Amino acid sequence: MITVATEQFGEFDVIDKYFSWKSVRVLNSPQISATHPIILGIGDDCALIAPPSKGNVLAITSDMLVENRHFFAHADPQLLGHKALAVNLSDLAAMGAKPLGFTLSIALPEINHDWLKGFSTGLRHLSEQFECPLIGGDTTAGPLTISITAFGEVPKECALRRDGAQVGDDIWVSGTLGDARFILGALRNEWEVPLSEFQTYAHRMHAPTARVELGIALRNIAHSAIDISDGLLGDLRHLLKASKVCAQIAIDAVNCSPLLAQQPLELKRQCTLRGGDDYEICFTAPAHHAEHITQLGRELQLPLTKIGKVLTEQESLLPTRLELIDSLGQIINATQSQSYLRSFDHFQTS
Ligand code: ADP
Ligand code: MG
Repeated sequence: MITVATEQFGEFDVIDKYFSWKSVRVLNSPQISATHPIILGIGDDCALIAPPSKGNVLAITSDMLVENRHFFAHADPQLLGHKALAVNLSDLAAMGAKPLGFTLSIALPEINHDWLKGFSTGLRHLSEQFECPLIGGDTTAGPLTISITAFGEVPKECALRRDGAQVGDDIWVSGTLGDARFILGALRNEWEVPLSEFQTYAHRMHAPTARVELGIALRNIAHSAIDISDGLLGDLRHLLKASKVCAQIAIDAVNCSPLLAQQPLELKRQCTLRGGDDYEICFTAPAHHAEHITQLGRELQLPLTKIGKVLTEQESLLPTRLELIDSLGQIINATQSQSYLRSFDHFQTS
């Protein structure tokens, strides 16, 4: 179907020029396809992927980015290319899966070579970093929309599912939370951030890091995991609900950057607990693994912070499944807790 066409440069030229880079084309050479799980990449009616090796399963995830909803019009295309793939790799990471490849479906309002060049560069760099090649997709004209489906592989018994949390598990979070929300607030003039700090931290919103190595390392350690895209507490509730458990969270133990640590307590809590776009991993693990997890954080040079405990399902906690405590161990009251809990919902938030 030819939907983007000019006299000189059409849909297939876009695919050839911007989405068929060398590490993508090489997949279709006979030498590579004999050994690689991607037997055939871009260029045919379908890509062909070998079935996972024995005991493994395929992990599949999709994420869509829509202009003016997930990113500002005129966002830097290279960062956007990075982010579009990073958010999908983050889902694979949260499942403990190793990336195999991805497809890209894209609607473009026009053929803008500068934009396409930047976008494909950001996409390619991350794709090559994680050896996760582009294996197919669709290209059409329309309002700028980027949809990626990523494929990964994980041993069936080790997949980090949301429904695996067990009573007594510790709850952990990787990295620091809240910077992406804090930067977004600066862009929306909700608060001011000095220029030098803005420049230091803007990548936390524009170019998130997918915690792929961490996800794979947690395969035999964690009982459950979720990546934090819509706010820590809101996402954690999905995990607790799936696992039919409750939790106590020490909200001021949540790790944040030095920039956020300087902010008023309430603002810091709002950003770390319910800000979105963090793409860190929240996971639960048995208490006897605590030492091992801290050591893993040192090896990965990624702080891993214990923020709470999984509790048995309790009638009084069911509405939120969460009991929040402050740094003195005092329970946060219901109204205040509610204000930390509202995570992002595309159909409820303007
Ligand atoms: P079909 O009409 O058979 O669905 P298309 O003409 O849409 O195929 O696409 C031709 C080839 O280019 C296919 O292999 C498809 O997977 C690939 N492709 C199309 N758009 C993209 C894209 N944005 N990124 C990567 N591959 C793409
Ligand atoms: Mg076809």
